[in-house]
Amino acid sequence: MAKVLIIGAGGVGRVVAHKCAQVRDIFSDIVLASRTMARCEQIRDEIRAKGHGDIDVRRVDADNVDELVALMNQVEPQLLINVALPYQDLTIMEACLASGVHYLDTANYEHPDNATFEYKQQWALDSRFQEAGLMALLGSGFDPGVTNVFCAYAQQNLFDEIHYVDILDCNDGDHGYPFATNFNPEINIREVTAKGRYWQEGVWLETEPLTVRLEHDYPEIGVRPSYLMYHEEMESLAKNLKGLKRIRFFMTFSDNYLTHLRVLQNVGMTRIDEVEHDGCKIVPLQFLKTLLPDPASLGPRTKGRTNIGCLISGIKDGRPRRVYIYNICDHEQCWAEVNSQAVSYTTGVPAMIGAMLMLQGVWQGRWVFNMEEFEAAPFMAALSKHGLPWTILEMEPGHD
Ligand code: NDP
Repeated sequence: MAKVLIIGAGGVGRVVAHKCAQVRDIFSDIVLASRTMARCEQIRDEIRAKGHGDIDVRRVDADNVDELVALMNQVEPQLLINVALPYQDLTIMEACLASGVHYLDTANYEHPDNATFEYKQQWALDSRFQEAGLMALLGSGFDPGVTNVFCAYAQQNLFDEIHYVDILDCNDGDHGYPFATNFNPEINIREVTAKGRYWQEGVWLETEPLTVRLEHDYPEIGVRPSYLMYHEEMESLAKNLKGLKRIRFFMTFSDNYLTHLRVLQNVGMTRIDEVEHDGCKIVPLQFLKTLLPDPASLGPRTKGRTNIGCLISGIKDGRPRRVYIYNICDHEQCWAEVNSQAVSYTTGVPAMIGAMLMLQGVWQGRWVFNMEEFEAAPFMAALSKHGLPWTILEMEPGHD
């Protein structure tokens, strides 16, 4: 029985709040705080209407450490789940240190002016979390998050050595809009327009954005064009997987999405620096976010499924082995369960599970840590139980 404070009432925050409310024997008290109170109230009312009891709601500016500390001192949670934006990771971690509260997030810190996607500043807080006797679980979404757990499960149970990992992320959903993003548009477009990067034999290799294309056959979905991108879980997996020779990340994009994105880039709408407009300063990407559909509004319109997983090769008992571990998630089923589409659902469920394992003491004894540093089996069991079942396919070795 624990009190949890969730920060961020967006697409992912909604799922986290719903899923925590479904597991009252662990999350007996739930407080949802965000910048816009009305969004918290809407989620509170939805949860009540689904018969999962009451949650408390608050307003907070998570860019402000003092405000966060005051809120935490009032609420006195055991654990904070940060599903605001990556910009707030460091202020929220500081506030957790000041208030003696365990921390969990789903995305690494980013500075608004600089899309770097790295764990460096969060890992640097390890000794301070250790001194405070607090834990911080980084990247407990799907990717990062479940993809790390799939790799850890493979390392702990299926392989003696892992040599190659391809993380493959397919959203085969259709929301009917000409162009929309499935999570925060600003964060999503920063990620997609960044240079591609992958790790091979100890070196990071860079590619121009979305120039390396693979026709990948996603189990139960089919062949979809997939593009090499940088994705943050590779940073910790490259450190933590034994014997690794290469790790890459691919995501599917339709030709329609890429055409829109190219036009937006060409006219400067994806810029993250300030420009002068009619006497005021605006950041084009932030303005674009205002124009695009709110990801939270895609839920009732989205049909189809996601397939996210890891294709892993290596050695077991002296023989080559190749396995594909993946989850399939259906957008319409997510909507029926928690008023959300599958991209927010696949992020919010692992955030709840990470929090649950920390509160139960199943994952403990580390300070600032990434998902693959712990035993994967309890997380895998919880995934199946709480809405994200997975499959392991044995594949023909030798196709890397
Ligand atoms: P949304 O934009 O839908 O929601 C973000 C929420 O945070 C909004 O409610 C917003 O408030 C709130 N917020 C923003 N700034 C502040 C602030 N300063 N103080 C308090 N609240 C604030 O984003 P998503 O729900 O789509 O994404 C949430 C997080 O999940 C992001 O960090 C994203 O990168 C991560 N993510 C991780 C994935 C994974 O698999 N690991 C996949 C998808 C997302 P307001 O309502 O006022 O705008």
